[in-house]
Amino acid sequence: MSKIKELGEFGLIHRLTSKLKFQASNSILGIGDDCAVYPVKSGSKEVISTDALVEGIHFNLSTTTPEELGRKALSVSLSDIAAMGGAPKRVLVTLGISKKISVPFLDKLYAGFNTICKRFNVELAGGDTVSSPNSFFINVAIIGEANRVFTRRGAKPGDLIFVTGTLGDSSLGLKFLSKKTKRSKDHNFLVGRHLDPTPRVQEAHILARSRINITSMIDISDGLAQDLHHICKASSVGARIQESQLPQSPEFSRTCNRNKINPLPFLLNGGEDYELLFTLPSDGVKNLKRQFLKAKALVTQIGEITLKPKKVSLEKSDGRNIFLPESEGFNHF
Ligand code: ADP
Ligand code: MG
Repeated sequence: MSKIKELGEFGLIHRLTSKLKFQASNSILGIGDDCAVYPVKSGSKEVISTDALVEGIHFNLSTTTPEELGRKALSVSLSDIAAMGGAPKRVLVTLGISKKISVPFLDKLYAGFNTICKRFNVELAGGDTVSSPNSFFINVAIIGEANRVFTRRGAKPGDLIFVTGTLGDSSLGLKFLSKKTKRSKDHNFLVGRHLDPTPRVQEAHILARSRINITSMIDISDGLAQDLHHICKASSVGARIQESQLPQSPEFSRTCNRNKINPLPFLLNGGEDYELLFTLPSDGVKNLKRQFLKAKALVTQIGEITLKPKKVSLEKSDGRNIFLPESEGFNHF
């Protein structure tokens, strides 16, 4: 079996990149030169972002396989493009390789990259390969295209708040990830939602090509409460959401019931759901629901935007109202 040292930097890059399966039909120059080259589509906008994942902080090599890590690293970046209403097109991947990382590990990581690239027609257009003294790290830069972009600012009082998919699965899954006990089917589903989130690229596409007036949008990475605060802050509005409306997967509610777990903290502050949270005036709701039904995609109305600047409140199932403080979601520092 070859070692990274024997392959050398260029041998390793060649080995990893020669197995890439998806190539964009319009690419002018791919991997191998100083830059990759693409044509620019007139009239459309470029949306770009970058994300770093550090071992010990964003992932743990004892609880995730390299394939899962590869899929997740790309999925969370695709989610950022989706959050703007864009279509992801290409990624650049930087690897910081520490001593314990092997060639087979990197092969599997790239197999994970390949899966997502193929599934979403995204080209891995290049990257950088460096050594890292302690932790392994990955950086993904992503480029997408959008005709109209949906930002965090623009939500208006009276707009309705919607979310795709279900909430809390990922953070509840994280609880079972490190447990050594045998996992049930439900646990596996939840753990899968944590390790292998689905970026809502299809849902973003539905919204982007519709004529629905999406007034703001964000992807839920820090937890519903925190990310709703981000929208409220950027839009200078408040929000009221209903506990009874927060969408739960059957696996999530069964697991909470069986283990006497209070679902609310997971639904509100769990994080890493990678669902889309967005707002629109009420006259767009019929159209929205029709489009999502047609695509067999899940969307749920969870509340409305209010006048109170930056105040997010939750109407509990027992009728009480509580204010949701900011920053109970994930914060690095
Ligand atoms: P440079 O010396 O110009 O930085 P490199 O030797 O780093 O070039 O990279 C050579 C080519 O390989 C470039 O096209 C670069 O984008 C690509 N590349 C480098 N590392 C990776 C990687 N980890 N994954 C994919 N492509 C890579
Ligand atoms: Mg380089």
